[in-house]
Amino acid sequence: MNFNTALLHAGVDKKEKFGSTLSPIYQTSAFFQSSAEDLAGIFENKVPGFCYTRVANPTISTFENRITKLEGGIGSVAAASGMAAIFNALTNILESGDEIVSSSSLYGGTIDLFRDLEAFGIKTNYVCNNDFEQFENAINEHTKLIFAETIGNPCLDVTDVDGLAEVAHRHGIPLIIDNTVASPYLVKVLEHGADIVINSTSKYINGSSNAIGGILTDKGKFKWTAEKFPVLKDYLKLGPFAYLARLRAGLYRNAGACMTPQTAYLNQIGLETLGLRMERQCMNAALLAQHLEDKYPDVIVNYPGLKSSKWHEIGKKLLKGGYGAIVTIRVGSKERAFQLLNELQLAYRLSNIGDTKTLVLHPASTISLHSTEKQKEDAGVFDDLIRISVGIEDIEDLKEDFDKAFEKLNAGGN
Ligand SMILES: *Cc1c(COP(=O)(O)O)cnc(C)c1O
Repeated sequence: MNFNTALLHAGVDKKEKFGSTLSPIYQTSAFFQSSAEDLAGIFENKVPGFCYTRVANPTISTFENRITKLEGGIGSVAAASGMAAIFNALTNILESGDEIVSSSSLYGGTIDLFRDLEAFGIKTNYVCNNDFEQFENAINEHTKLIFAETIGNPCLDVTDVDGLAEVAHRHGIPLIIDNTVASPYLVKVLEHGADIVINSTSKYINGSSNAIGGILTDKGKFKWTAEKFPVLKDYLKLGPFAYLARLRAGLYRNAGACMTPQTAYLNQIGLETLGLRMERQCMNAALLAQHLEDKYPDVIVNYPGLKSSKWHEIGKKLLKGGYGAIVTIRVGSKERAFQLLNELQLAYRLSNIGDTKTLVLHPASTISLHSTEKQKEDAGVFDDLIRISVGIEDIEDLKEDFDKAFEKLNAGGN
């Protein structure tokens, strides 16, 4: 199946009891069974079925199956948010004393989470993305995984996933990739050597900002060993399912950050138009970036689709169908950035990406507020930077909105 067809049909249960074309919302906390033995069997994982929505729910399972098919994995676990998915993905294999080696170009929330993990004895070593020598040098006997974003938010650097996977595998550790900004439309990172992929579904998968959620998908190819990953030792007998089985039976149900059935339902509606939206949004982003670069020589425009981008060549190799729908611009000062944001009429000033509508934000004073100066610089966050999450509007209206805002800004004499 090709991508858009797969969005509609892959992993969908066509034998739904009453023929519903969308997965019904099983809005229930618990599931009764016809006998005490059946219920005991479900708890022992010996009988298929559902017992409690924090552990599993049919609406959520259908969503998980669809993402599994789309990403090309063996299974997925859906969580309450993208952050919950990242937390689950990492802590399922980490213990106190372990270390993470990560690209320094990360979403601010993830940097904050990595700092929170220090209280549990888990340390993160940040290195410059795509500098494999730095990655190699940062790996030691305590390192249990490599982490990076396919397209850094908001740096917009593109990760050489194939190259990074080779580094990880040479050291017997998995590569975990946050693919939120690229989405499976632009690249299926599991096909490029990543072992586990995470998507914040709040963004492009949901598509219209009506529910917070996240999901992780396991490719099932990584060779876990009891020596390197002692926490998995009871699950190694399950072969490729060791990682997912431990997560589902352990931390996922115990941490309790499950996705809600309502969110899983809304995400499935969004998922079906992911391809159409991304195609339009990537095209709009490319046109807007080119327009701003051509018309405003004083403004630094950052977009992997522009030939001027440092990451254009890697992007061209890795991404299919576009270069993403986020553009960042540097306008000279924080004051100018705030003024421009305030002059825009169509674009919403808010902290989110991946909506059908165009969204704008000043990262330094919002999502990167708690980062250090060094972390901000590494993540490509500057005081005069504006992040634009480009929507599906008609491009002429978007260009006009920015042109009018720049006109007012420049007339103000700043
Ligand atoms: C938004 C985002 C997250 C966090 O997802 P939530 O659903 O908001 O918890 C993680 N990574 C990236 C790259 C994001 O853009």
